[in-house]
Amino acid sequence: SKKAVLGPLVGAVDQGTSSTRFLVFNSRTAELLSQYQVEIKQEFPREGWVEQDPKEILHSVYEGIEKTCEKLGQLNIGISNIKAIGVSNQRETTVVWDKITGEPLYNAVVWLDLRTQSTVESLSKRIPGNNNFVKSKTGLPLSTYFSAVKLRWLLDNVRKVQKAVEEKRALFGTIDSWLIWSLTGGVNGGVHCTDVTNASRTMLFNIHSLEWDKQLCEFFGIPMEILPHVRSSSEIYGLMKAGALEGVPISGCLGDQSAALVGQMCFQIGQAKNTYGTGCFLLCNTGHKCVFSDHGLLTTVAYKLGRDKPVYYALEGSVAIAGAVIRWLRDNLGIIKTSEEIEKLAKEVGTSYGCYFVPAFSGLYAPYWEPSARGIICGLTQFTNKCHIAFAALEAVCFQTREILDAMNRDCGIPLSHLQVDGGMTSNKILMQLQADILYIPVVKPLMPETTALGAAMAAGAAEGVDVWSLEPEDLSAVTMERFEPQINAEESEIRYSTWKKAVMKSMGWVT
Ligand code: ADP
Repeated sequence: SKKAVLGPLVGAVDQGTSSTRFLVFNSRTAELLSQYQVEIKQEFPREGWVEQDPKEILHSVYEGIEKTCEKLGQLNIGISNIKAIGVSNQRETTVVWDKITGEPLYNAVVWLDLRTQSTVESLSKRIPGNNNFVKSKTGLPLSTYFSAVKLRWLLDNVRKVQKAVEEKRALFGTIDSWLIWSLTGGVNGGVHCTDVTNASRTMLFNIHSLEWDKQLCEFFGIPMEILPHVRSSSEIYGLMKAGALEGVPISGCLGDQSAALVGQMCFQIGQAKNTYGTGCFLLCNTGHKCVFSDHGLLTTVAYKLGRDKPVYYALEGSVAIAGAVIRWLRDNLGIIKTSEEIEKLAKEVGTSYGCYFVPAFSGLYAPYWEPSARGIICGLTQFTNKCHIAFAALEAVCFQTREILDAMNRDCGIPLSHLQVDGGMTSNKILMQLQADILYIPVVKPLMPETTALGAAMAAGAAEGVDVWSLEPEDLSAVTMERFEPQINAEESEIRYSTWKKAVMKSMGWVT
């Protein structure tokens, strides 16, 4: 019966901070047919530094494609049915490579990396005119988070990068650009491009004119010739040059949070989703209008699904550390062996017993934007054990989401009636229930959790010249959802939340 409805297929690369996935969807039903996942190494060469190997990332994409195609073969589904590929990626992470040799000139500097703190400080002293210079053009606060300062650091500190720029061999890109350039041929004619959503996270992009901003590039001292061409999120960028899918067009590109917004079908103004991965990102569609926040949220490009299609913007609440705190409990403390085990520990106690865990490993992002914060675990007694700490870690993710939801409600005026969620952490049922309890609104999760990949696949399938996926919302209204209703009372929820805020205050001011 599956065969009967098998329409054209669309592949999606989902290159996240913790792993790379390749997935194949049926464009007719949005059904996920096959996928493969590869975990990505993170290197921490110094305190606060986070790097990844761009070549490992590229190889993980090829591996994902090969393995997924093998699986499709076993299901008797011909890979020639794959008509397009979309790319979604961890945003902001910065790569500079040599266009003659194809070699990266340094590791990828990951979005979480804090090495640029002093760069940010000295830049913020030189902001021309009013303080709004950067924010009014980009929608972003000056922070270690965004690519421009990472690129500035590479230009200041890495001789190979300086030399390549002087010799006009250097190319800059976020992960989408690095992948698309490599997959479309690399040194043999690779296409150097990015899409408007990824560009909007570099801090060099004017979100009103949708172009690289000359004044910003001057301010950050970035040579414009190393920047990729900016394209829409849905158009043919180029063809796969090698591997099992050689010749297939790459025709969708979205930063992962934008891709999830699309995959969750949040096409109407006021629709929002929260994704729980390494970090946590709540995006609310604000339509064709740039809404600027008074409460620590970012203004960002949501998507532009076609060269001649209008741009949509979003308000975004970004939390740096969500799933990463679980990975930290696994890798640094060793109190769990797999991320899934956190649920068992938390369940044993069902409470943090007054313990609060503020995982400000990379400072605090929204709504505080406080680089001086560092992680704390507080409220400990003789009684506290690892189960309470596990519970507190999950609760921390929920409290952080509550803070950005509160900010969102204040900026938008109309409070969200429920929260649409996705991402790797949402398989954790305790987390989902806690989230409903702490927000005091229902939490709603699609049964097919790969919404990031789905969004990229939809963009690719809908591109002009591919035309296998129509983006009419009614096509996809049949998505099955799982609901979590609040179970504790609002008063209890408020008490816990106000204690959390006290803990947050204690996490600030550790670094001066
Ligand atoms: P990303 O897109 O940032 O790579 P994913 O959406 O793949 O992230 O989610 C992976 C993150 O979710 C990891 O940080 C992992 O620790 C966390 N995670 C995965 N499964 C669970 C679980 N059952 N409970 C809590 N956290 C989990």
